[in-house]
Amino acid sequence: LTKRLNRAFKNISGKGKLTEKNMDEMLKEVRMSLLEADVNYRVVKDFIETIKEQALGQKVYDALDPAQMVLKIVRDELTNLLGSTTAEINYKEDGITTIMMVGLQGTGKTTASAKIANLMSKKQDRKVLLAACDVIRPAAIEQLQTLGKQIDVEVYTEGVQVDALTTAKNALAYAKANGYDTVLFDTAGRLHVDEELMKELEKIKKAVKPSDILLTVDAMTGQDIVNVAESFNEKLDVTGLVLTKLDGDARGGGILSVRAITHVPVKFVGTGEKIEDLDVFHPDRMAERILGMGDLLTLLEQAEEKMDLDAAEESSRRMMEGKFDLNDMLVQLEQINKMGSLSKIMKLVPGMGQMMESIDDMKADDQMKHTKAMIQSMTKFERENPDQIRSSRKRRIANGSGHSVGDVNKLLTQFEKSKKMMTMMARMSQQGQAPDMAA
Ligand code: GDP
Ligand code: MG
Repeated sequence: LTKRLNRAFKNISGKGKLTEKNMDEMLKEVRMSLLEADVNYRVVKDFIETIKEQALGQKVYDALDPAQMVLKIVRDELTNLLGSTTAEINYKEDGITTIMMVGLQGTGKTTASAKIANLMSKKQDRKVLLAACDVIRPAAIEQLQTLGKQIDVEVYTEGVQVDALTTAKNALAYAKANGYDTVLFDTAGRLHVDEELMKELEKIKKAVKPSDILLTVDAMTGQDIVNVAESFNEKLDVTGLVLTKLDGDARGGGILSVRAITHVPVKFVGTGEKIEDLDVFHPDRMAERILGMGDLLTLLEQAEEKMDLDAAEESSRRMMEGKFDLNDMLVQLEQINKMGSLSKIMKLVPGMGQMMESIDDMKADDQMKHTKAMIQSMTKFERENPDQIRSSRKRRIANGSGHSVGDVNKLLTQFEKSKKMMTMMARMSQQGQAPDMAA
């Protein structure tokens, strides 16, 4: 089927204008592809409608042909739906951060508990306690204990004689008494969502007031994943998802449905059975995986690079004409960002290598981020007319980007300087002279 999708796109690729007819043809294939990846049909329907609206109102880029344009919209919108920011754990400022792991049996709760505990204790220097609240089978406790030993994190258990709620309460008290700052509660699952399981989890939730409730969802689960996630979320208000078994070959379209319907963000991704196999969520990679159109996406990336180059060229041309404005400055900054660090780029310039050893990349990167944030807080008018930015505008830009008016002033002065320099260089090159760098 993905082959058909590829063919549909390639047929239209390079064929001039995007018409309603050839777009419908492409969207039909996108629809099939998403359904095949196990995305819920309601979600697919809404998605296709959004894409259609967007495509019809879209500005046409020279570098993209119609097929690439639709593909770009599809991929960007999918990424958007999957959540464009990295979700973080809700750490408590003071007091103990409590995290409840919930999910159906076999989805990877216990494994994820250990992976997350390991990450927190090794990388984030937190003092973590694992609480064994799956007291249905002795084997479940042993599994957690084995993992705990492996990662050198203490496991709190009172065996299978004590119920889950009591174990949870006692684990929290133990954590308080022993200076732990984080407790992860590994709970029991069932094969299906049932009343008894939910009641137990609700009670534990009430007792430990979790900072996060993480629901593990198996990437290999098909359509049913949505109903499961909805039930857990209705009863418990899940704060994050852990998408497990992404190392398998499922395209994992279910996660798109879960995100679209519950709006709960994905906080972690499990990519294997080993402790280290934990990743943060990359919505863009996930979007590409769900679409399953590898070589088309490569084509798209090439086209996008060309788009960027066109924008950079255009802004260089404007610079040479002395028309440099803050929009151009933003384009240039983004270009640098894409190419990597400033010192890496400067090293490519003959003769600059040595000098650039002394550039502090962290500082330069930081500086660039601040500059970008300030420009992004400006209106179109302001970017085009920096000289019109008076005090009230400055204050708004400063507030909007989390900076001071002094920072905005500095940016504007820096901009004026570069502009003067550009204008001078432009004039000289027009007169056929080399610019006098000493001036
Ligand atoms: P629980 O019943 O929800 O606690 O699930 P477990 O943590 O015991 O995991 C069930 C099975 O899935 C175990 O065999 C795990 O090794 C395996 N597993 C868990 N996470 C992953 C993952 O990200 N990738 C793979 N390949 N296997 C996983
Ligand atoms: Mg378990």
